[in-house]
Amino acid sequence: MLVLVVNAGSSSLKSQLIETEGKITRMKCLAEKLGSANASMAISFAPDFKKAVYSVANLSVSQCLRKLLDIMEEEPDSPISGLDQIDAIGNRIVAGGEYFTKATLIDAGARENLAKCEELAPLHNPPADTCIDMLRELLPNTPQVAVFDTAFHATMPKKAYMYPLPMEYYEKYHIRRYGAHGTSHRYAAQQAANLLGRPLRDLGLITCHLGNGGSITAVNHGRSIDTTMGFTPLEGLMMGTRSGSIDPAIITYIMREEGKTFDEMDAILNRQSGVLGISGMSSDMRDVLDAASKGDERANLAIDMYVYRVQKAIGSYYAAMTRTDAVVMTAGIGENSADLRERIFAGLAHMGMILDKERNDVTGQIGMNRVISIDDSPIKICVVTTDEEMRIARETDNLISQL
Ligand code: AMP
Repeated sequence: MLVLVVNAGSSSLKSQLIETEGKITRMKCLAEKLGSANASMAISFAPDFKKAVYSVANLSVSQCLRKLLDIMEEEPDSPISGLDQIDAIGNRIVAGGEYFTKATLIDAGARENLAKCEELAPLHNPPADTCIDMLRELLPNTPQVAVFDTAFHATMPKKAYMYPLPMEYYEKYHIRRYGAHGTSHRYAAQQAANLLGRPLRDLGLITCHLGNGGSITAVNHGRSIDTTMGFTPLEGLMMGTRSGSIDPAIITYIMREEGKTFDEMDAILNRQSGVLGISGMSSDMRDVLDAASKGDERANLAIDMYVYRVQKAIGSYYAAMTRTDAVVMTAGIGENSADLRERIFAGLAHMGMILDKERNDVTGQIGMNRVISIDDSPIKICVVTTDEEMRIARETDNLISQL
């Protein structure tokens, strides 16, 4: 089955065309800084994946997707000459609320419920829904599936997903913890089980998705029992531009003192905080590590805080599970930064997570799933390359095939 995977972000678009039978990627696309004048889209086709970069200045996420489809129809290297050759579309949706606990075919009813989930991930769900609408109009006969970041966390027990607020807010508005990055946590857990050569159902794993956004999940016997993201992807770890968990009283305090509106406060917490807010220079960990190595104090503080919060989350999930066999690192920072991994695990050796410095060194090993703890480490440490698009394609194929 030829599946077009659409992963719409707040200002980015990742897309791949995947042949699910042989797990073969035919096209890759990454568009960034969408909505701005210097937005660009890089597209590459199998087999050599030589990138062609297009300007997509001032285009929205769905307009950029439309342009990608045009290019796929026209380009001689493209694996398709007409959009009708696409068998199905798999959409990554960040928040599915209590409406969606598994991958779902998008019909009129599902589309209505998707609209109700928009406020749960205000940066991510609305652009994804716009892409879905554009594709439904353009390709009305091509089935579309929504694959939810929250679905993997549907197994969380009530004690983990409830907030200690008056019960009426849960009953009226379904305010509870939903988590996110579920596709990535599920995949990382399964890959770690493969690496360790043991069935996932026998293992206790702590999966760390550390990218621009970040979350950590306790995966007990293959099921998510707790995760750091909550009602929205704002809770939990310190992230690129998101604050993560803070004392909620700070929000009303700043709003009162500075006369901020709800939208302004939302932007402060989601777009101006985290690594960017503390370092004052960038949300990109590479830039901040670089500045820190040159002695920049704020960059150093941002890294210290980032590492400390990751360490505390790992420690709390060690406590939450009945056993911990491995900690799994994935996504941009988790996969690529040997430096940050070293700092994180330097503080966790007393819990039995002992890094092997040489194995941790990424040189020549980027993209390889591997164990990076010493042989005798009571708890193993793994690095796993996340492949969200492939998982979305396979979940889409599974669902369409069942139908
Ligand atoms: P993601 O959201 O998974 O694409 O991850 C993006 C984040 O990963 C950004 O903060 C990047 O700076 C960070 N990242 C990517 N490669 C490296 C690296 N080699 N060292 C440190 N951070 C990295």
